[in-house]
Amino acid sequence: MKVLVTGGLGYIGSHTCVELLQNNYEVIVIDNLSNSEVSVITRIEKITNKKITFYKGDLLNKFDIQQVFQQNEIDAVLHFAASKSVNESVKNPVKYYKNNISSMVNLLEVMEDFNVKKFIFSSSAAVYGSTTQQPISELVDTQAMNPYGQTKVIGEDFLNDLYISDNEWSIVVLRYFNPIGAHESGLLGEQPNGTPNNLMPLITQVASKKRRLLYVFGNDYNTTDGTGVRDYIHVVDLAKGHVSAVQKLLLTHGLHTYNLGTGEGYSVLEIINTFEKVNNVNIHYEIVDRRAGDPAVCFANPAKAKEELEWSAERTLEDMCRDSWQWEKALENNILPSRK
Ligand code: NAD
Ligand code: UDP
Repeated sequence: MKVLVTGGLGYIGSHTCVELLQNNYEVIVIDNLSNSEVSVITRIEKITNKKITFYKGDLLNKFDIQQVFQQNEIDAVLHFAASKSVNESVKNPVKYYKNNISSMVNLLEVMEDFNVKKFIFSSSAAVYGSTTQQPISELVDTQAMNPYGQTKVIGEDFLNDLYISDNEWSIVVLRYFNPIGAHESGLLGEQPNGTPNNLMPLITQVASKKRRLLYVFGNDYNTTDGTGVRDYIHVVDLAKGHVSAVQKLLLTHGLHTYNLGTGEGYSVLEIINTFEKVNNVNIHYEIVDRRAGDPAVCFANPAKAKEELEWSAERTLEDMCRDSWQWEKALENNILPSRK
């Protein structure tokens, strides 16, 4: 079985390539390296002792996609390639609508031309906006709060229309909650380009003294300790969810949407405390005002994925904190080839 992974050298895509290879899928990757580096291939191959076929190509260029389909008999596509910073999307919506929507139109057009109709889409809990229904089930209405989230809502609507037009399509939409952690091998993880916005890379940078302190955005939310609560999921568990989703694609037609989360919420202070305890380091932090647009609480009801994909997250918050720190140290000690 041959699968094409777009954005397969990025954070979630690279971990998914490992799980796919370990489950005997043949993996082809297209990535334009806008937020990743080519050395990730070597590291994926080192972990799995298997090869991937790599195309340096841009989904904004239809020719790049056609070439991959001409040269390979693809059975299914996992589509990770996108831009992913909420902040940047507010400042530069054109980039986000172009890279997240136009590229997806190109990809699905080429897939139609080559009669490949199995597709997995990387969506996000961002599609739930600031819903107060917690835990969040897939039935909650979508209502994005920013251009990034809006590109995911549009992507999902597009897939829905596609399926209505031709029900030979088999589509799985995966709404990720908050992926953190890194591969246990210490060879793969997130390499944020520039200043990170997300909590875990900021914590690891404070721990490694790249950054002086962590700003905790608000301690006056209606939560146990007043800080924001999220559903953090280990990236390896998330990657394994994709293998279950591919298996679902191969068995059924239809469009199926799943939350990939643990179903448990942790506050910012709980994350900091667990990180300190597991790794025996200090995280210097300061409470500041709330960040605009942040919901107080956001965690998944993952029951549908458990029932229909027979998947659930297994790794603990301790695992996530330990693996994130191991990865940061690998970056810090220059064990890995550095970004460009
Ligand atoms: P990432 O930036 O690490 O990986 C994306 C990869 O796609 C990168 O390797 C980048 O070089 C590549 N890429 C981007 N635009 C491309 C294009 N036009 N053509 C070819 N390659 C391109 O991001 P990630 O964290 O691995 O996220 C993967 C997917 O999951 C994205 O769609 C993202 O929106 C979604 N998602 C991520 C999170 C998260 O917190 N990381 C949460 C929810 C959803
Ligand atoms: N957060 C924080 N300080 C930071 C970054 C994030 O206190 O520097 C908080 C944020 O308010 C939220 C949680 O950490 O409650 C997770 O934020 P992240 O940006 O990682 O994910 P998202 O908000 O997209 O769920």
